[in-house]
Amino acid sequence: MFNQLSPNMLKTYEICPRKFYFKYVKGISMPTNDSIFEFGKNIHALAFYNLRGENIDKMELALSEKERDVWNYLKSLKYLSYEVVGAEYNLSLKIENTFFGGRLDALLKNDDRYYILDYKTGSIPKNPKFDYQTMIYTLAVKEFFKTNDISFVYLDLKNKTELKIDYTDELEKEYIKKLTDIKNKINSEENFSKQKDCNCEYSLICY
Ligand code: SF4
Repeated sequence: MFNQLSPNMLKTYEICPRKFYFKYVKGISMPTNDSIFEFGKNIHALAFYNLRGENIDKMELALSEKERDVWNYLKSLKYLSYEVVGAEYNLSLKIENTFFGGRLDALLKNDDRYYILDYKTGSIPKNPKFDYQTMIYTLAVKEFFKTNDISFVYLDLKNKTELKIDYTDELEKEYIKKLTDIKNKINSEENFSKQKDCNCEYSLICY
């Protein structure tokens, strides 16, 4: 019985239930050679220290040219001048008997509106309005701060674009339904079946 689920867990299950089984039921981690991930980690760290008001001069000097370009773009955005509620901020919400939670990149506030930022050094989700991050963090902010003035902002640092999703009551209903459906599906899963013609970091142990 899974009574704690994160956006990554739900995304993994949606991609492949068997991958979910290896990763979260058996607890097996596989090494990945992901340079985008490493690049993203540096940018996230810089944004985190900057939002906490720490001196990042030395960190900035150590950036590669590509990192500096991305960082200068991120730094120039209006959001980073807003009031900081939290950076690398943990939030959760409960739906029925299950906690959904995770860590959002930044939560900022301006004119009574809350902005959830998500920095993407890879690509933004194909369906951002219904991505699990969007659904969970928006509902969690609404629940915790008792407000309807919430925007989820994906910052595509590679293409220097942004995509904003404003919370609505209609979305809330859809989010709750989708999260309820998938947690019920995961908890009634019996087989975690292998898929056909697929490949991933678990391929060697997947049969
Ligand atoms: S190899 Fe295919 S079935 Fe096995 S875990 Fe990976 S994606 Fe899933």
